[in-house]
Amino acid sequence: MQIISGKEAIEEKYPEILYDESRFTSGIPQKLYFPETKEDLTEIVKLADKTATPIISIGGQTSITGASTPEDNCFAVNFIKMNRILSINKSNENECLLSCQPGVTLQEIGSFLEAPLNFKYKVGRAELIKSGYWFYPPDPTELTATLAGTVATNASGARSFYYKSTRNHIKSISIVLADGDTFNCYRGDTFFNSKNALFKTDNGKSICIDKMQYTNTKIKNAAGYYSNDNMDLIDLFIGSEGTLGIFSEITVKIIPRPDIISGLTFFPERQNAFGFAEFLRKQDNILAIEFFDSSAVNFLYENMENHKIPDAPKGKTFAVYWEFAEYAEKPFEEIMEAWEEELLKLHSSFDDTWSGFDKKEMETLKSFRHLIPELINNKISEIKKKYPEVRKISTDTALPGKNFNSVFEEYIKLLDYERLTYISFGHLGDYHLHINIIPKNNVELKKALNVYKKIMELTVKAGGTVSAEHGIGKIKKEYLKMMYGNNEISEMKKVKSILDPKNLLNRGNLF
Ligand SMILES: Cc1cc2nc3c(=O)[nH]c(=O)nc-3n(C[C@H](O)[C@H](O)[C@H](O)COP(=O)(O)OP(=O)(O)OC[C@H]3O[C@@H](n4cnc5c(N)ncnc54)[C@H](O)[C@@H]3O)c2cc1C
Repeated sequence: MQIISGKEAIEEKYPEILYDESRFTSGIPQKLYFPETKEDLTEIVKLADKTATPIISIGGQTSITGASTPEDNCFAVNFIKMNRILSINKSNENECLLSCQPGVTLQEIGSFLEAPLNFKYKVGRAELIKSGYWFYPPDPTELTATLAGTVATNASGARSFYYKSTRNHIKSISIVLADGDTFNCYRGDTFFNSKNALFKTDNGKSICIDKMQYTNTKIKNAAGYYSNDNMDLIDLFIGSEGTLGIFSEITVKIIPRPDIISGLTFFPERQNAFGFAEFLRKQDNILAIEFFDSSAVNFLYENMENHKIPDAPKGKTFAVYWEFAEYAEKPFEEIMEAWEEELLKLHSSFDDTWSGFDKKEMETLKSFRHLIPELINNKISEIKKKYPEVRKISTDTALPGKNFNSVFEEYIKLLDYERLTYISFGHLGDYHLHINIIPKNNVELKKALNVYKKIMELTVKAGGTVSAEHGIGKIKKEYLKMMYGNNEISEMKKVKSILDPKNLLNRGNLF
């Protein structure tokens, strides 16, 4: 196993591991490890326990909350060399399962499923390996994210509207606990009763975790530990942001890939687009409903250079991206008439839709969706040259459907009142839109932070979550408190203290 010792060496050779996509920094590790096996990982954790040294797990570092940013003097464990797909197999329930090391990226899983026979790690039951047949549904946009990172944050994406978040696709996790002891957590094996959950580690130690008394919100949520009646123990670890155990192997369910038809439909007003989303939510086989506010569409056309994206229909600057899974018994053709009728009522039509049938059309849709965050980051980098403190302030709230329209209006009023530049887009199907505020100077940064806080207050008051998919990490802790309150936070801390009494794993995340 490769080990880099000493702060200077780490800073010089691996400066990129000092922060994640949030660009938040908090120190330099004393040692950087690159484990290749479960045994390597166990050895590191045992040493950390013996020397009471905090330890941070590093995946693709695409987190935007500081979750994978190391603290000063810790051990940093980078999973880049634990990136093998280990096996493809069938469960007793006839599900197809893929077992992976934690550092395998979503890109690597995608490539394996696309062309498994060319893959250097081809293993498992040969009859299951069919090029392009299988599909791993979670799609949290950034393909350099690792499987463990997405499990630790319970990541979701556009298709979570249909397939739900990562937790729904995880079958088992091998976990290294804070003292180096290990256990395999299989979905369906251990549940919480009204008081607690009991399990035995591989060393034969019994661990009893008290049940937290709060119940998780029913809306999409990635804030705090998951807690529900009769919940499966594995769900406690999923979304725990690496604070309860380190994942050394993960088994996911894969499913046959559906035929997907996609489109981007333009509307003249926000309420027309919201109305179409309402219609789509009631239709069958809709995988994704994504929204682009006029702030995003206009920003794209004003800032893109040398990109071949056709003009949007005149006067129509609000857009909804949708995906439909087509099956032989339910072809797209069959539903087109009803959709067109609805679109006409909302001042749009299939004529105002870019479709994604062939490869070229799919590419245009993909560029449209991917360019916006890239251009926002470019803009921020430009502003940073003059105002280094300036950063993107972006929300990750989801709201109960019944409150969504009115609360979103309130968000916009706050932003407009302060005359801030913002770009809004996101997962409208789940009532989960990101607002990216671009402060143009330090004064605007202060205003943006104030507005952000007010948005969190409005969200919590309306029964929403302060983080639907990115998690809390190190930079959203005050909002976790705002959302749950002191008792619930104490319950979470109690669970943490049972599993990690020395507070070594990902110290500084969540609390
Ligand atoms: C452009 C862009 C778009 C994004 N879009 C989305 C989106 O649509 N949906 C979404 O949910 N997120 C999105 N994200 C955020 C990010 O991609 C996710 O949070 C992702 O799950 C992080 O994975 P990672 O491998 O990069 O993890 P990291 O950033 O390295 O770490 C994230 C957390 O996982 C922990 N961790 C890593 N490895 C392990 C391990 N082996 N055991 C235990 N804990 C571990 C880390 O300690 C940390 O707490 C986006 C980010 C970017 C930059």
